[in-house]
Amino acid sequence: MKAWEANVRKVVPYTPGEQPNRPGMIKLNTNENPYPPAPGVLKALEELDTGRLRLYPDPAVSELVNALAEYYHKDPSCIFVGVGSDDVIAMAFQTFFNSEKPILFPDISYSFYSVWADLFGIKYERPALDADFRIVKADYFKENGGIIFPNPNAPTGIYMELDQVEEIISGNPDSIVIVDEAYVDFAGPSAMELVDKYDNLLVVQTFSKSRSLAGMRIGFAVGQPRLIKYLNDVKYSFNSYTMNLPSIKLGAAAVKDEAYFRETVGKIVATRERVKKELTDLGFTFPDSQSNFIFATHKSWPAKELFEELKKEDIYVRYFASPRIDNYLRITVGTDEEMDALLAFLRKKGN
Ligand code: PMP
Repeated sequence: MKAWEANVRKVVPYTPGEQPNRPGMIKLNTNENPYPPAPGVLKALEELDTGRLRLYPDPAVSELVNALAEYYHKDPSCIFVGVGSDDVIAMAFQTFFNSEKPILFPDISYSFYSVWADLFGIKYERPALDADFRIVKADYFKENGGIIFPNPNAPTGIYMELDQVEEIISGNPDSIVIVDEAYVDFAGPSAMELVDKYDNLLVVQTFSKSRSLAGMRIGFAVGQPRLIKYLNDVKYSFNSYTMNLPSIKLGAAAVKDEAYFRETVGKIVATRERVKKELTDLGFTFPDSQSNFIFATHKSWPAKELFEELKKEDIYVRYFASPRIDNYLRITVGTDEEMDALLAFLRKKGN
């Protein structure tokens, strides 16, 4: 070991799993949207004034903030935009979780939370899910330095009803509660409607899933102006130009193409419900996902083996090697054709 290595900040990095990206493969491993971005986005790309790329983008990201404000009927001062919701959440950890008390998030949930907490020196506790993979609400009323959970949760896909989410928020007036709604457009109502009522609530969403723009890296948070100001203070201290010009333009165009957004989300939800039925017939069980993925286990097929077999068919799903969930596969809901290819393979295997 080199002497200077004693000064290196050591973290266990987030492992996104395999990320092959070949055209033609069936990619059901990272919960992307199987449909192309909205026609409005393609038009904005064609119309992009490349001459403006020599200039710095607007640090306040006003065009995108205003488009979101209009769409969600909020004041622009209630909206913060970042480079994917990963960036927004990381910024929120740095801003709001500056406490000696541990923050709370479920075990299991999005694996990035512990990575950020370790990186930023934030203590945490992870209350376990119950036997049905549900978040145990009662675990979130102890003293804490903040709370974050995905709703729907990942990788289970389970959506917590808004009245229960509200109980966690109202029961923790001295902490910031972050509701990570990466997948909420495939589920029930968003906690965004509670923002006016609670000054300790921050709702985070992404353009990577329901808006089919994972490649542009756009996420945003909605909260009362006081929270958004604190977030901006931290953002401007790191790098005021977080968002690039094409992302701002294409993001704003995506928000404005509501008809396409509704149509594609509707298709994904319909496919999900069909695939749930077929997987059940094939002997799989899974928590009732309200998301764009299904977290499934099979009564007699070990998940790791099945994962490898599917890979040979050029079908990629996500296998988690963690001991608590090592017999599950997380399967992203793709197009009907992609899901039919998966189901055809499974049916053949079952015969
Ligand atoms: N939160 C959850 C629960 C997620 O699953 C993801 C996607 N991996 C993210 C946040 C981050 O998404 P993005 O950075 O693409 O907005």
